Amino acid sequence: MPPGIYLDHAATTPLDPGVFAAMRPHLEGGVGNPSSVHAFGRASRTAVEGAREQVACALGVTPLEVVFTSGGTESDNLAVSGIAWAARAAGRGAHLVTTAIEHHAVLSTCRWLAAWGGFTLTVVPAEPDGLVDPARLLAAVRDDTVLVSVMTANNELGTLQPLAAIGPALADRGIPLHADAVQAFGRTPLDLDGWAVAALSLSAHKFNGPAGVGVLVLRRDVPAEPVLHGGGQERGVRSGTLNTAGIVGCGAAAVLTADTMAEEVPRLRRLAVDLGDGLLAVDGVMLNGSPTARLPHNVHVGVEGCDGEALLSALDSAGVAVSLGSACASGAAKASHVLAAVGAPEDRAHLRLTVGRTTTPADVEKAVTVFRDVVKRLRDAGGGFV
Ligand code: PLP
Repeated sequence: MPPGIYLDHAATTPLDPGVFAAMRPHLEGGVGNPSSVHAFGRASRTAVEGAREQVACALGVTPLEVVFTSGGTESDNLAVSGIAWAARAAGRGAHLVTTAIEHHAVLSTCRWLAAWGGFTLTVVPAEPDGLVDPARLLAAVRDDTVLVSVMTANNELGTLQPLAAIGPALADRGIPLHADAVQAFGRTPLDLDGWAVAALSLSAHKFNGPAGVGVLVLRRDVPAEPVLHGGGQERGVRSGTLNTAGIVGCGAAAVLTADTMAEEVPRLRRLAVDLGDGLLAVDGVMLNGSPTARLPHNVHVGVEGCDGEALLSALDSAGVAVSLGSACASGAAKASHVLAAVGAPEDRAHLRLTVGRTTTPADVEKAVTVFRDVVKRLRDAGGGFV
């Protein structure tokens, strides 16, 4: 690990040592395909089913509804494509609705279905505070709509979407809601029943589990066509040999997350408030997104008089790791579709800072001091614009 202060927990979180300890026996000498019938296979199957129960319990769903995938991207692809194709095959229509601020794993899948699969797509805009207006979204729904996908919390701005005002209204019309909760799990309560969610995506590396493991909660009455075809694992919707160690890690991380949420969320909120207060005290720094309907660990700011890449790299050199827009778009320094959708000014830097389980008050204090100095130095030098 490089030295420094890591304020990019929305991009990925450190693997918790207890989670690693749970995975370890399955990495060191563990063998056995969970689909094999011999003792080795059965031992792996037992471990996988234990993890499935842990995840189900953390989310308040039944184990049957937990489908393990390779991560948030795959869960989103499976939810959107799988539900869309199944509904279309049943003759229910071919119209999809999503929002302009979804992760590319949802937006690009919807666009692919529209380009290649004969679906039509309505992309509902976001309001300037990063929230989706439920009335606007519901107005986009048609009789032939087969899926609506709205994220629980935005990965850049951290805004919490009003799913309670969306899901039940869709359910009344028999339309499934997919919620990408990759950023939300462990940071805000997930009310799957209250939101009438048909499918929900998670990714273990966002909650101190291993990278490369995800979950799709797929309600038992929601038909979905597989995206990956093969041996028919995971209710037949996700073929492929199960990643036993990763799944065990996902289960352990889900337990850790659920068990510690009551203390961890207020702690994260306090850290983020202190961080936000420190950054906003600098002239020409303003908060992006809703000040209230946002994840407790997210601070997203616009910084006047600074170029984004120059500021990010100056902070990095000074030992503070933050994100420009969203790191998940491959780190490429291109304009964020989320910031564009909410009309964020283009003439300044926009940074996302996210605290997490390993962040301390001393980290926040130091980061604020570094930020203040770096912004001053950069502005004195012309802002770093090219
Ligand atoms: N959805 C959201 C909201 C995300 O923030 C991310 C990653 O940052 C993903 C999906 C993709 O998850 P993964 O990295 O597990 O593929």
